[in-house]
Amino acid sequence: MLILDAHTHFACSRWEGHKWIHNSLEEAISVQKNNGVSGCVFCSWRAVLADTLEDFVAGNKETLEIYDKYPEYLYPGLILHPVFFKESMYFMDMFRERGLVWVGEMIPHKKIYQEFDDPAYEPLFKACADNNMIVQLHNSHGVPFVAEKFSTLQVVASHLWQDVLERESKIPNLMIDFSGMRGGCVSNSLTQARALFGAQRMLYGTDFEGYDPLPFLVRAKRDFPENEQGDIFAGNLLRLLKKHNSCPAFGNLLDDK
Ligand SMILES: [Zn+2]
Repeated sequence: MLILDAHTHFACSRWEGHKWIHNSLEEAISVQKNNGVSGCVFCSWRAVLADTLEDFVAGNKETLEIYDKYPEYLYPGLILHPVFFKESMYFMDMFRERGLVWVGEMIPHKKIYQEFDDPAYEPLFKACADNNMIVQLHNSHGVPFVAEKFSTLQVVASHLWQDVLERESKIPNLMIDFSGMRGGCVSNSLTQARALFGAQRMLYGTDFEGYDPLPFLVRAKRDFPENEQGDIFAGNLLRLLKKHNSCPAFGNLLDDK
């Protein structure tokens, strides 16, 4: 079965703020491949956690450099930052020119803004909607607010965070990826999320390298019936990229979608 991981942060650990988990990018990719994973959406930790312009720029550049090494295996996510709006738009143009349509996973910049519903984020999300980008957001109270406010924006909420799941399940422009602790460890969480969202609105994701992919794979194969596994493991993600006019992804996998 084709398996794509919609939520990873690859080997972006040369940055002193984040230690290596695996010894190299190549080793990390081989862990995914050995688990049968055929491709990953990813972005650089340095960009995700950036508080300075230097880290923000270096992190987004790093994401593109890593993508350019493995364009058939990886798909890059852009990080945006409310303080660095001009630079955010510079990188968005760069992604769009290449046909790259994914933003995130973004995490709220807690040191300055507590939540994605802070007005400082609005110009960024408006630009994403105008540019037909898919925006993957670390789940929090602000995520359903953003998806409701920008009804033409495709939001992918990350992690099965219980406080917001029911509200999010009612928002048509929102999908969920089941990366993180609740997707990989917590009892009965996939079954509950499936009951709320349905398999058509769920993406397989792990938060690798932070999490071992194996429990996610085992649980997803147990908790979704066989006729839904093709969608959650790859079909939903590929259709989403195709709908947003992405450039070729994971080799030529978009061609028959
Ligand atoms: Zn993540």
